[in-house]
Amino acid sequence: AVVGATGLTSKVSGGDSIIIDGTRGLVISEPDEQTRQEYEQAEERLIEFGHELDELRDLPAVTRDGVEVKLLGNIEFPHEVVVCLERGAQGIGLYRTEFLYLRGETEPTEADHYEAYREAVEAVGGRPIVIRTLDLGADKYAQITGEERERNPFLGLRSIRFCLSHVGLFKAQLRAILRVSVLGDVSIMFPLITKLTEIRQAKWVLAEAMEDLEEEGLPYRRDIRVGVMIETPSAVAIAGALAHEADFFSIGTNDLIQYTLAVDRSNERVAPLYTAADPSVIRFVRDVLYTANRKGIECSLCGEMAGDPIYTLLLLGLGLRKFSMAPNAIPEIKRVVRSVSITHAEQVAHRVLGMESDREIGNYLRDELRKILPQVV
Ligand code: PEP
Ligand code: MG
Repeated sequence: AVVGATGLTSKVSGGDSIIIDGTRGLVISEPDEQTRQEYEQAEERLIEFGHELDELRDLPAVTRDGVEVKLLGNIEFPHEVVVCLERGAQGIGLYRTEFLYLRGETEPTEADHYEAYREAVEAVGGRPIVIRTLDLGADKYAQITGEERERNPFLGLRSIRFCLSHVGLFKAQLRAILRVSVLGDVSIMFPLITKLTEIRQAKWVLAEAMEDLEEEGLPYRRDIRVGVMIETPSAVAIAGALAHEADFFSIGTNDLIQYTLAVDRSNERVAPLYTAADPSVIRFVRDVLYTANRKGIECSLCGEMAGDPIYTLLLLGLGLRKFSMAPNAIPEIKRVVRSVSITHAEQVAHRVLGMESDREIGNYLRDELRKILPQVV
């Protein structure tokens, strides 16, 4: 898909030929013969490459020098678990639960939460699944929360802040997650943590939910793993302290990029400024991986960056071993992982860390990938 092509519908009309190039973000109207042929050939190559990728499904994601990497899927709906497994996911690294709010006009009940999570946990069949608590507000269904419009919604009462100020709603979700925790390998993840008190308060509400379940005689796992998303510069800065409160981290680059570069992730007017290749973002990712490693806790990355093959070498070189992404990206990323060595990835990361601009970094990463897998680029 291509989005943000302002004015396009007034420039094209029924019967016109157009090419939609989602990879480059281009819409070409009335292409000439040469362009049309180039795209037809590219399409054939893509289909062929797709068949090649299908064959990777049951092969492990191991680098050429024998380092194993975990590839997980991101989902919004429970029925997407199957799609992830079909693409070779080893579990679910991010279950975005706010989509429950799409269903109706009224708030989901604990039973609604429970049913959705049960379906997902059963479908994943004993593999790990990370359920993220509500990330409502800003770009995600702010209208449903019924709150007043905010002037700066991305800096407003969103996500964990919203949950901590609506404890009843938060607790209903936590109870449902705790109740499904006995059905599989379930973890909880809190989004948009910016300070230590937030994770402490969230864990306090979780402890209360546990006590309630205990009193009601409902089973749950007391040792459920609790993680935090690292998606704000402040979380990067205090990652060392957060590591004492959390069992794992997951780097949310979609938000981390927007808060680091002060670029609204959903505003096409500043879209060219929004890039994971910015040296500041890459340094932040490096810092979080370094801290997690030093503190001995697991760290994954579940933003779109994880599913973009341009960044796979770099992320491996920075030490990332757990990637969570949209299911369709998994085969391609596995192909990259299986074609590279960690030694090479570390050299690439070292060079990138010495570079000063996103353009230089992007071009370099694209060139390196092209040398290994021209068909991906
Ligand atoms: C992120 O911010 O990178 C992320 C994975 O969360 P979301 O895209 O749902 O905000
Ligand atoms: Mg986010």
